[in-house]
Amino acid sequence: MAEKKINKIRENINQVDAEIIKLLAERRKLSKKVVESKEENDQPIRDLNRETKLLSQIISLGKKFGLDSHYVSKIFYDIIEDSIRLQQKHFQSSFFDNGTDVIRVAIQGIEGSYSSLAAKKFFAQFEKEIIFITKKRFDEVAKEVEEGRADFALLPIENTTSGGINEVYDLLLHTTLSIVGEETYKVKHCLVGTKNSSIAKLKKIYAHYQAASQCDKFLSTLPNCAVEYFADTAMSVQKIAAENNPEFGAIASEDAANLFDVKILQRKIANQEENYTRFIICSRKAQDVDFRIPSKVSLVMATPHISGALVKALTVFKNHNINMGKLESRPILGNPWEEMFYVDFDGNIKDQRIQDMLDELGIHTRFLKVLGCYPSRDITKAKLIHLHKENKETNEQKFAEPEPKKKKSIKRSYKLASREYKPEDTIIKVRDVEIGGDNFIVIAGPCSVESHDQVFACAREVKENGGRILRGGCFKPRTSPYSFQGMGFEGLNELEAAGNKYDLPIITEVLAPEQVFDVAKQADILQIGARNMQNFSLLKEVGKTHRPVMLKRGMMSSIDELLNAAEYILAQGNRQVILCERGIRTFETTTRNTLDLGVIPFLREMTHLPIIVDPSHAIGVRDKITPLAKAAKVVGAHGIMVEFHPDPPSALSDADQALTFEQYKNLMSELEDL
Ligand code: PEP
Ligand code: MN
Repeated sequence: MAEKKINKIRENINQVDAEIIKLLAERRKLSKKVVESKEENDQPIRDLNRETKLLSQIISLGKKFGLDSHYVSKIFYDIIEDSIRLQQKHFQSSFFDNGTDVIRVAIQGIEGSYSSLAAKKFFAQFEKEIIFITKKRFDEVAKEVEEGRADFALLPIENTTSGGINEVYDLLLHTTLSIVGEETYKVKHCLVGTKNSSIAKLKKIYAHYQAASQCDKFLSTLPNCAVEYFADTAMSVQKIAAENNPEFGAIASEDAANLFDVKILQRKIANQEENYTRFIICSRKAQDVDFRIPSKVSLVMATPHISGALVKALTVFKNHNINMGKLESRPILGNPWEEMFYVDFDGNIKDQRIQDMLDELGIHTRFLKVLGCYPSRDITKAKLIHLHKENKETNEQKFAEPEPKKKKSIKRSYKLASREYKPEDTIIKVRDVEIGGDNFIVIAGPCSVESHDQVFACAREVKENGGRILRGGCFKPRTSPYSFQGMGFEGLNELEAAGNKYDLPIITEVLAPEQVFDVAKQADILQIGARNMQNFSLLKEVGKTHRPVMLKRGMMSSIDELLNAAEYILAQGNRQVILCERGIRTFETTTRNTLDLGVIPFLREMTHLPIIVDPSHAIGVRDKITPLAKAAKVVGAHGIMVEFHPDPPSALSDADQALTFEQYKNLMSELEDL
């Protein structure tokens, strides 16, 4: 009898559940209609006032029926979130639509890893089948997308327990990919083992190092168990499944355990129950985010080596009323005690307000790269904040397409290089040398690094006579393929050692994009030679480094072309560009080139960038260099670069223009007297 009664009640429950499901589906349909009408009327997706009102009405209705407010709000948060996601999807699905019903996603690790689970969560909204391209390392994941073998990369960027994922931050600095989305995934670590295993039997646990650090309290309760690090959580499960040894366990998600059909020995082993990993989705193409979707911008910046520089940069965010969500610092590889700052803030890159802020920020940074603009996933947070506080700003103000502000328009084809963009001189600080502003510096050294003794003798001479930077070509751009091509990295090692011994920053030329990253590890300044002034892939590559770049004017280039070439570097993020006038080709053949000193006062007006004059390559004859060098100082250059050699006639390149040490010494004292 009692059983019959229960069955009847259960039947009723089933009916109610079915009704709930039908109503949820009905609500979704209405949400879709809302989004269509929002599109027609150009209205924003979020209506926080309405959401707040809706929740309070629902909560008081719930109270009438005896439902407590916590229960009701929890359910309705989910319902509202679903509706918002649906609407967000509507406005961005075209970006994720590649015209097929599959999408190729590159991840680190194998299927079953947290990355694969987060990818499934993110791409579920676009109803596409995922083909995973699995890689061992994060840089390989990015490469798959850069080279077109995958549509998107999904990379973990931070975890609420163990913090930022350093390799991914470092990777973002160099990749050409844009961040186009983010996803958070709740990490639920479990201890898993083979079917006949138990916690007591375990002798070894395979774990990803991040997972191990997030569960270290639990692991310390198993003193007899060794932890062996593994590249990826799912792979560690795969390994124990394959080895089938009851003494081996792994830390992984429940999904990975199910995928590889192993036993869960204990759930909830993480130090923090609320353990989330945030992932970013990257693509070759930047996303043009609809103004109606709340969005975020991520950027990376480095501030100048002067005190208070970071505060100045951060004040720009404050002055423009930009809500900064995150600030993370990472050391710059190869530069001890120098840091790059990663910033996330609310806003849309298309918004003139944001563009103005970025323009101003660019003035206070020596490196600035926007990593991407993407719809914010942080729905719950925004809603909770606005639920509890007076919503002063109306949604219309918050999300409406901003009025384009009237700005001083810069008509030239370059912007960042122009004086209009930055009225004050750029001063580039390399070690303790300041280039630009009111400073006049001398860069000197051999045309090519030829041997240990040669470059050390030159370095000593530079230092003794007041030169500030040591030059030396290691990769030489020679007119004839049979001429000496330089000592390559062997030469760079010598140049670096000589620079270190005499405490002189070093400058050397890069010839090819693939060299840039490695040369930048050792050289303080990268030189782009005259023959490469419009080698755009090389310009873009040096633009991604944090090293100052000296860009030489092409032999057949106008200064407009020179400034546009500088713009290529600046636009990539690197705001430390030095221009160099080294003589151009004219019909005159007496001199190697014609030094165009007349442009220096114009350049000083047109750009804020420092300008160096190279009289050596202009005139080509050692006896005529000194007067040109002096003239360069008089017309307003920020410095000169000259070539010398311990034994000029024996120089392996540009022997005719190499000064003797004696000539260099005299030149320095004549410049001093000016
Ligand atoms: C150099 O500085 O060694 C050099 C090759 O210069 P340019 O590119 O001006 O010829
Ligand atoms: Mn030379």
